Amino acid sequence: MDCLFCGIAAGDIPSTKVYEDELILAFRDIAPEAPCHVLVIPKAHIGSADEITPENSAVVAHIFELAPKIARLGGADNGYRIVTNCGEDGCQSVKHLHFHILGGKKLPEHIVS
Ligand code: AMP
Repeated sequence: MDCLFCGIAAGDIPSTKVYEDELILAFRDIAPEAPCHVLVIPKAHIGSADEITPENSAVVAHIFELAPKIARLGGADNGYRIVTNCGEDGCQSVKHLHFHILGGKKLPEHIVS
């Protein structure tokens, strides 16, 4: 499968790592929209939020358990926002489940402008 984030998870494509363990990788977004803009991915391929099932959802819980630590490591020390885009209307551009952790500044109040 030709998947950019699988390539990053495997270490075949370079990234700026923020956190890694056996299940997940967190790395800096290549086009940051906030001082802290970290992407958190499961290492095992899940296409999007649409593909979360009872069989693979433990890694999603793991990501949220680690989110406070990853946010702090990424530079968000006064709160943060977690976003996942899904599908066409959600403007998902990379078809591997990922959570944006955004912070390091006061974010816009409205998520949809
Ligand atoms: P989304 O639009 O929600 O699918 O988000 C995909 C994100 O991946 C965007 O914010 C991109 O800037 C980011 N991105 C694309 N390629 C890379 C890369 N090689 N390394 C880090 N971030 C990337």
